[in-house]
Amino acid sequence: MKETIARLKELVDGSDNIVFFGGAGVSTESGIPDFRSTDGLYHQKWKYPPETILSHTFYECNTEEFFRFYRAKLLIPGVQPNAAHRKLAELEQAGKLKGVITQNIDGLHQAAGSKVVLELHGSVHRNYCEKCGKFHDFDFMYRSEGVPRCDCGGRVKPDVVLYEEGLDQETIQRSVQLIRNADMLIIGGTSLNVYPAAGLINYYRGHKLVLINKSAVARDLAADLVITDPIGEALSRI
Ligand code: ZN
Repeated sequence: MKETIARLKELVDGSDNIVFFGGAGVSTESGIPDFRSTDGLYHQKWKYPPETILSHTFYECNTEEFFRFYRAKLLIPGVQPNAAHRKLAELEQAGKLKGVITQNIDGLHQAAGSKVVLELHGSVHRNYCEKCGKFHDFDFMYRSEGVPRCDCGGRVKPDVVLYEEGLDQETIQRSVQLIRNADMLIIGGTSLNVYPAAGLINYYRGHKLVLINKSAVARDLAADLVITDPIGEALSRI
């Protein structure tokens, strides 16, 4: 076993109060591309950068184009949890992991069996009518055309935090609480550039800060252990 993985295993074995903080990299192994990454087709298909399209203003003013992008880039049918999601659910069930805090909106942690999942940026699985408040699921949104409409005629908005919109305060508070009380904090699949979510890790006060990310992070992070293997691979070996 590689030295870094052996060390990770040792830290996990010695802790029963682990918190996991994850980003887009956790889901890429499930085939969900980071919508911020620019693929070849991107520039041909979209006139605006994703940060513009996924903003509150754009949603209000160019609703149809918003949903065209949303369906194409954020609603990916048939995705399954990967080894990282499964291991984290297993650690929670074993009483070692107290919660997952995620920037992802794909619901894959819950699909893997995790119970305490704090979704900082919302979920594509929750959608609400702006007029009557009725809930609509993923399939409803995926099958809809143009601007999705409720039976009552109201527009259906994804419960996803758009640019210019604030994060849910209760989710933030619960995340701060988890991180503050954590003995071990594992950060995975994120470059820590997404604020204010990334600022949350400043609340960690322990000495078992593990970073699992395939590329170097922009931010200078005083991690106790840095692992650059793919996250599913790293976690499934412990
Ligand atoms: Zn309605």
